[in-house]
Amino acid sequence: MIPEPNANSSLIVWEIAVPAPLHKTFEYLPPEEGRPPPVGSRVLVPFSGRESIGFFIRARASTLPDQEKLKRVIAVIDKESLLEAPLKKLLDWVSDYYLIPPGDALMLGLTVNERKGKSPWVPPLNALMTCRTEDDPRTALARAPQQLRALQLIGEGCVSLVELEAMGISKATLRALSKTPFVTKVAMPNQAKISTADSLVLNFGQNQIVDSVTQTLTSFATHLVDGVTGSGKTAVYIECIKRTIAAGQQALVLVPEIGLTPQTRSRFEAALGCDVPVIHSGVSDSERGRAWAMARSGTAPVILGTRSSVFCSFKSLGLIIVDEEHDGSLRQQDHPRYSARDVAVKRGQICSCPVILGTATPSLETLANALAKRYHHHRLTERATKAELPKIRLVDTRGLALTAGLSDEAIEAINKTIARGEQALLFLNKRGFARSIQCEDCGWTAECNHCDSTMAVHRSPPKLNCHHCLSSRPTPRSCDNCKSIRLTSKGVGTEQLEAFLKRKITSAPLFRVDSDSVPSVPVFKELLGNIQQTPSAVLLGTQMLSKGHHFPRVTCVVIVDSDSLLFSPDFRAEERLLQLLTQVAGRSGREELRGEVLIQTRSPDHPLIKNTATAPYSDLAQELLGRRHSLGLPPYGALGVIRADARQERDAIEFLSQLKEQLTPNTGSRLVGPIPALMTRRAGLYRYHIVVHGQTRKAIHETLKRAINTGSTLKIGRKTSWFVEIDPTEIV
Ligand code: ADP
Ligand code: ZN
Ligand code: ZN
Repeated sequence: MIPEPNANSSLIVWEIAVPAPLHKTFEYLPPEEGRPPPVGSRVLVPFSGRESIGFFIRARASTLPDQEKLKRVIAVIDKESLLEAPLKKLLDWVSDYYLIPPGDALMLGLTVNERKGKSPWVPPLNALMTCRTEDDPRTALARAPQQLRALQLIGEGCVSLVELEAMGISKATLRALSKTPFVTKVAMPNQAKISTADSLVLNFGQNQIVDSVTQTLTSFATHLVDGVTGSGKTAVYIECIKRTIAAGQQALVLVPEIGLTPQTRSRFEAALGCDVPVIHSGVSDSERGRAWAMARSGTAPVILGTRSSVFCSFKSLGLIIVDEEHDGSLRQQDHPRYSARDVAVKRGQICSCPVILGTATPSLETLANALAKRYHHHRLTERATKAELPKIRLVDTRGLALTAGLSDEAIEAINKTIARGEQALLFLNKRGFARSIQCEDCGWTAECNHCDSTMAVHRSPPKLNCHHCLSSRPTPRSCDNCKSIRLTSKGVGTEQLEAFLKRKITSAPLFRVDSDSVPSVPVFKELLGNIQQTPSAVLLGTQMLSKGHHFPRVTCVVIVDSDSLLFSPDFRAEERLLQLLTQVAGRSGREELRGEVLIQTRSPDHPLIKNTATAPYSDLAQELLGRRHSLGLPPYGALGVIRADARQERDAIEFLSQLKEQLTPNTGSRLVGPIPALMTRRAGLYRYHIVVHGQTRKAIHETLKRAINTGSTLKIGRKTSWFVEIDPTEIV
């Protein structure tokens, strides 16, 4: 219940956003002494029996009737807000648009340590810069020739203390000089030393894009760079970043996966001649804090990161690039849920800077925006190295005897590739040894005790493992049901395929890339390095291998089991499959070598599978767009979802039923459900949802807001964990 404003109240309180599941701010009495800090500054407040960080929003008259209960702010932490004005504005928008409580949204703009109330990392003052003064240093320092010499060495610029010492200036001299008014100690800017010697000469198409993007460096525009794999998109990003840096601005580059950062990072560092700090879950908190602070202070010209770095602080952001913009990993699937791509576009608008969305397979949302001329649409249809696009061949596996999931035709193609001294890449989206284990006598299958799912078989180490909740159990020797020992594994996983290929192909090494074999970024980096250095090899992996990497020696790609990707009731399933097939196929023949792609399938007549072999992605995507249009599904029309998870199935259903009964949807939106999620039980929780269909995002948004208000008043809500989601990526 929101209380009525109390007009007679003259009690001044501070409005504070506290990270909590409640969609509101809280009133506190100001601390005993101290004036209101700048908006967005961190404060320490008592909250539900503990101390919590909060954000100062404003000082105003209280609107509460029972002001005696108000607690007092314990302390003000920041003299200046760590959230610069445009970032604060962005986070306010994120809170409103994604329906994230304001305190939780503002937390997104801080590093892990800052969220705990710690001071931000401060770059060391390790350089001297000259200051303009009325006094002439030649007179003032007449008796200190060493200091004068140092001053001459610094000239008009900024020189690091280490460099000055290397030029023979003693520590004592530097200490004395830094106390004079002629210099000031600063953090050495991480200046880009852009060498033109080894930079590529961009082709006509690439140059056109660079010109178009950089002619609006100080105003907002979104550019879709829609280029086939290997068409030189990264080269375009690098040139745009160079121009951004030359204009004294910073750039932010977002990539969907951590796996993509090592390769991308070294390429950017080599081309830009400066450190490119990275922000993703694989780097330590302190390293992330450092990168964040360097961006905030302006000492890092470029930041590279995964989705959460879309909220990184910048002194002067001049360009945002989202690579592989179609990729689902850019969407945060847990609280606080947001799409880093959409936030990036909003950020560009707030900061008045261009945004590049790059991909070989634009998402239908982005494509629709480009078709409606909201985004500039740039196409690169040829590979930059003039390599031809690969030939795609379908292998009908119906009635064939497969060995470890491979047809004879695929095995032959791999053998030939190795014999030519080139690399073959096999894509199989199932890690472990086998998909499941089954009893030959009674048909029993080992299922997870916590999910509606079978357990995958792993051999090293041996166990059954659920890939949804990660629970495991020892591999049974006999059937749980009839005790028969005739247990067989079904469905091939990467471990099994690896074992088979290692026996079959002995003349070339095999590299397996999945989350079991590659536990960390350094291991992945090393592996990628080994792959680059090995002329002939078999690469075998899951999605981890299919994304964005550059494997110039791969000339044969086998999609081992395309059928496993085909059948999903989600409305985005076809779009995802098409993107995946195109992306995996794009790994083949990227330089002077022509490649081939084999798609193994038992559904060769399925329109999508059949057409990937013959039609370009853009044609098929347009077709899918047409279908979405006729069904009124995004990007035409909008979607929201209200989800409830509960230990007892009936609680999830009851909560959503009561909510639906009491909720009046905004006109222009309607509620469908409650319906069970496709995997109803996951990690011991039952999931149901109500889908909100509407013509406009505004209507959906309004309905979801009402759902939050109504849901908060329902008692049964306490037995469930429930939330709303706008623009969900899936509704199954
Ligand atoms: P994408 O990011 O679209 O996959 P890249 O930028 O990685 O493409 O380029 C693919 C390959 O083509 C790389 O080896 C790159 O060095 C090369 N390349 C890119 N642009 C040019 C160019 N203008 N001239 C020659 N080679 C180029
Ligand atoms: Zn059995
Ligand atoms: Zn499970």
